[in-house]
Amino acid sequence: MLIEIKLKELTNGAKEAKVIRVHKKTGEEVAAGEILFDLEANKAAIPLKSECSGRICSIAVEVPGTVSFGDVLAVIEGDGTGQNTGQKTAGNFDYFGSLLKPQEQQLTCDIAILGGGPGGYVAAIQAAQLGARVVLVEKDAVGGTCLNRGCIPTKAMVRSAEVFNHLKKAEEFGCHAENVNIDLKKVIERKDGIVNQLVQGIHYLLNKHNIRLVSGLGELVDQETISVKSRMEKTIIKAKSIIIATGSQPAELPVDGAEIDNIVDSEQILRLKHLPERMVVVGGGVIGMEFAFIFANFGAQVSVIEYCNDCLAMLDQDICEEITRKAKEKGIKIYTDAKVNEFVKSENDQCIVSIIQKDKSKYLLADKVLMCVGRKPSMDGIDAEKLGLELNESQRGIKVNAQMQTNIPNVYAIGDVTGKIMLAHVASHQGMVAAKNIMGQDCEMDYTVVPSAIFTDPEIAVVGLTKKEAEKMGTKIEVGKFPFAANGKALTLGEGQGFVKIISEKTTGKVLGGAIIGSHATDLIAEITTAVKNKLTTTQIAENIYAHPTTSEVIHEAALILEGGAIHFVE
Ligand code: FAD
Repeated sequence: MLIEIKLKELTNGAKEAKVIRVHKKTGEEVAAGEILFDLEANKAAIPLKSECSGRICSIAVEVPGTVSFGDVLAVIEGDGTGQNTGQKTAGNFDYFGSLLKPQEQQLTCDIAILGGGPGGYVAAIQAAQLGARVVLVEKDAVGGTCLNRGCIPTKAMVRSAEVFNHLKKAEEFGCHAENVNIDLKKVIERKDGIVNQLVQGIHYLLNKHNIRLVSGLGELVDQETISVKSRMEKTIIKAKSIIIATGSQPAELPVDGAEIDNIVDSEQILRLKHLPERMVVVGGGVIGMEFAFIFANFGAQVSVIEYCNDCLAMLDQDICEEITRKAKEKGIKIYTDAKVNEFVKSENDQCIVSIIQKDKSKYLLADKVLMCVGRKPSMDGIDAEKLGLELNESQRGIKVNAQMQTNIPNVYAIGDVTGKIMLAHVASHQGMVAAKNIMGQDCEMDYTVVPSAIFTDPEIAVVGLTKKEAEKMGTKIEVGKFPFAANGKALTLGEGQGFVKIISEKTTGKVLGGAIIGSHATDLIAEITTAVKNKLTTTQIAENIYAHPTTSEVIHEAALILEGGAIHFVE
């Protein structure tokens, strides 16, 4: 069987690679996994390994030289053994047939992972580090929702909004900035550049860990087989264990007029070409509120429609009040206890959003309506009923145990598709737990200490128990709350709004949870997370020396309040 060794991946956006070294000569024997060529692209070393064992029939490159993506570098007469068997053969390529039906190949591995988001690709790297032969299947771009349509693109836009805001406030800092404008096209280009860089970084990591990436829509055929179809190829993957990591997709709102073209979801809004003058955000949860602040900071008139009696209703009352106050300051109109009745297109191409708030009908006008009414697990390629795969109680997502194992022992599920906590760091952690269990380590997923970061302006971050939850559990608690207004560094930054709150158990002083609203809250929460996870006490935090002047001193002061009194604040 003749097997072509091709350049299948390049990292960091490179289009070609330099040939640094050729390790074998024509006629020599080669083993599967042995390095054939050392290549280099954008200063990154790329060792290209043989995918099979056999005898080298021809080598098509030399030193010095360059090769491009897709080039055939060598042809090997395979002996049928290898890491991945049954590869595309050079000798029997069916030109006419390939136009009608895709070429077929079969791979065997220890772990096949369906979905390359922060759950799937992290699980792949972890499993490879533990010695597994891994195949990762992705129908779109690696990095999933988080990298391509979620966490990273939104935070790139948050940063543009922040910079724009700083420029508008430049006078306050003694700087003059005139004619400050927002160029949405450049904002989007910058965001795309960051996303591309990170996607290329993941390709590089997969390559370095010898993880085989198969592009195309995967279907779970049975508990050890995934079939992947792309335009040119059909791949059958046989695996000892399978991890489902297919993620989630935006949920829809079944309302009349929901199909009109002014209405976009959280993915489409990342490709907007023009800044809307008026924007309505349906849903005042985390994603909705992040976009509300981004577009309000860009200068749009933003309204938020929220079904509950508060936006970000899962947070403690004082945090909700503070963020609502900041939203109003920025001109964001919030309609709580309200639901959308209908969308209608107006004569001048705008969207009329008909809402009912506390039995009263109201009408809002918008150029764009952003739907952020939650996300649902993505079951593309998984016929749960046919496979006998159990779903969780709400029938939204795949049921798993603490080891991330489904009811089918060699099939695991991780990330948003499990419908647990839909956050990127949860998906990644679940991925590592699944990989470790498959590789013989015994570990469990613990959801009690999961930090959440909300990129509103100011930022919000929470971890552990909220005051509401602790009180509901009947735990006797104490709360130490310190304002950023009393922190020197925050004032130099011009960020004196917000506070930090530490919740501790009254009898033991153990830190049970914390919440921060204010500058860099999403970075500062790591410290309280460490305290909750390791059952540290407020005395231990109070005894720490904090660098001055830093915003982290707010955590020290909040702990000092619980130990008898803050130094820089009196209630
Ligand atoms: P995904 O990231 O959804 O990845 C699943 C992958 O599987 C996708 O690439 C998909 O193409 C692929 N796939 C699905 N079916 C198949 C198939 N049959 N064959 C092949 N491939 C398939 N989380 C945070 O922690 N912090 C944030 O700041 C944050 N911001 C967000 C902002 C927005 C706008 C959104 C939408 C989400 C945000 N999230 C955030 C949530 C976060 O993106 C998700 O929790 C995370 O991406 C889930 O990871 P996952 O691996 O489970 O799934």
